[in-house]
This record gives sequence, C-alpha cells and structure tokens, in this order.
Amino acid sequence: MKLALIAHDGKKTAMVALAAEFLPLLQRCQLMATGTTGGRLQRELGLQVECLLSGPLGGDLQIGARLAVGEVDAVIFLRDPMTPQPHEPDINALVRACDVHDVPCATNVSGARLMLRAWSEPGAV
Ligand code: PGA
Repeated sequence: MKLALIAHDGKKTAMVALAAEFLPLLQRCQLMATGTTGGRLQRELGLQVECLLSGPLGGDLQIGARLAVGEVDAVIFLRDPMTPQPHEPDINALVRACDVHDVPCATNVSGARLMLRAWSEPGAV
C-alpha cells in the first residue's frame, strides 16, 4: 500500500495522533509525505517516510504527479479549512488528480479513520 500523507500546519498534530493510532498498519505501508509533515512523522513516531518538498514549494504537485502514473494508492490530506493557503491551486490540483484517477482521498480525520480501519482488516493490505 503506497500512502501519501499531507497536513496543513493547523492539522499536523492531528496527523501525528492519527498516525500513532494506526502505527502498526502504517509501518507496513510505503509512505510518502510533504516535507514538514513527513519530518514530524519520522521524528515523533519513527516512521519511515519519503519526504518530498514542502507543500507550498511544490510537494502537493509532486504527490499529484506520482498519483497520475499509478504510484500512489491513497491520500490522507488533512486540510485546514479555516486558513487560506498560498498554494491553493496546488491543493485543488491534487484533489482533482485523486478524482480523475479514482484514488481514495480523505481530507479529514474521520474519513481517514474509516479508510485506515478498512485497511486494518486482516488481508486488506
Ligand atoms: P508541509 O506541506 O507538510 O511541508 O507543511 C503541507 C502543506 O502545507 O501543504
């Protein structure tokens, strides 16, 4: 399972908590993340994560490009709906790429939990 993880600044702590909750599953996944999100997951949980560029510097676009060629199976993208983002077009492009290629994309913790619970079932991953 190739999983991409992105969290806006106001959601990074929630992403770390979510990853801690599903740690055994995530340890079996191939993880990639935008730079700062990935750094926190590595430092705070010891997860192996391929860190791409930070979101505002093109990390979302890197994930979108990989997804378009079949290199991403799912995306957890914890967006902060209360804070304007300088790279809004990149965010929209990534979410659109998920829809174009029918790749599951959870944009909040509850959706991500449903996704990760489904994959926690024996034999799912
Ligand atoms: P970051 O990028 O993980 O490097 O902060 C996420 C974002 O803000 O889009």
